[in-house]
Amino acid sequence: MFKRKWFILLTVMYMLFIGVQGVHALEQNQLPNIKILATGGTIAGSAPTNTKMTGYTVGEIRIQTLINAVPAIRQYANVSGEQIANIGSNDMTDEVWLKLAKRTNELLADPKINGVVITHGTDTLEETAYFLNLVVKSDKPVVLVGAMRPATAISADGPVNLLNAVRLAASKSAAGQGVLVAMNDEINGARDVTKTNTSHVSTFKAPELGYLGYFNDGEPYFYRKVTRKHTKDTEFDVRNLTELPDVEIIYTHVNENRALIDAAVAAGARGIVYAGSGMGSIHRNAEPALVDAQKKGVVIVRSSRTGNGIVTPSSAQWTAEHFLDGDNLNPQKARVLLQLALTKTTDLAEIQRMFNEY
Ligand code: ASP
Repeated sequence: MFKRKWFILLTVMYMLFIGVQGVHALEQNQLPNIKILATGGTIAGSAPTNTKMTGYTVGEIRIQTLINAVPAIRQYANVSGEQIANIGSNDMTDEVWLKLAKRTNELLADPKINGVVITHGTDTLEETAYFLNLVVKSDKPVVLVGAMRPATAISADGPVNLLNAVRLAASKSAAGQGVLVAMNDEINGARDVTKTNTSHVSTFKAPELGYLGYFNDGEPYFYRKVTRKHTKDTEFDVRNLTELPDVEIIYTHVNENRALIDAAVAAGARGIVYAGSGMGSIHRNAEPALVDAQKKGVVIVRSSRTGNGIVTPSSAQWTAEHFLDGDNLNPQKARVLLQLALTKTTDLAEIQRMFNEY
């Protein structure tokens, strides 16, 4: 009799235990599934001491270790990591871009995946974000995140940035906003964001135009929408590409000469973004070299080294010389768009249309 009571009690306890596990598993399954693609950078950086904020080794720490360092992530999403590269983003290449874009598209095509987070060095994060903004074919959230302080630093910014990025990628409000950047409690759009400071954690800004929203207690809040076409509304398709056209940036300065432009053409550049002074102004010593390049079929886009403002057709002569206008894209982003444009066409009117649209 006594044994039977114990048997019943233990059976009931076991069933309760299984039930709780089941509910827990159900809750887990109801969480969004977020894939984290890692490429390296300071967020995965390691320094010999916790006060060392520069001169550390980037990309030392692998993605699973970064995820494990932020257990709170698991309250908001089922996350799994994948290492795409492990480099400082100052060494970013077209090859890594294409691998990243193809894998992102593959993942987002899977109905079980709700969003993608990409860990990235901050130096060229803005270019990767804009590239993906133009080639990802999905409405699902894609969020880039990095850190200004290595993972080993006192007050490292990586863990909170990663948690915010996952929560953003898991949120319905991020869908259809194009590729986003989550850094320093702010949400920026890929097209307008740029790195503005060499070392501060508040480095990512959309100068003059402003960020799209911010995080409060880790919860994303949006206040603005992007207006330019992006992701599945673009004409760019990287599926069958194994390389991107070579486009160089020429940065003007006092007493400029034509040597670097000629060298870019001789090296096979198919496009040149001219980071002009003011509203994309061209030095008179450089202009004949650009005209010669244009006649050889190299596409010239005027941009500005000022970092803000629009470049429109400001000189009848430069328009007559068939130089295109880069709108308000900074030179490094104009370069991304020109690379993609050249995968579709060399028609100058068409490429100018793309600069007006994207
Ligand atoms: N040089 C590093 C990189 O871009 C800097 C960083 O991640 O903050 O990878």
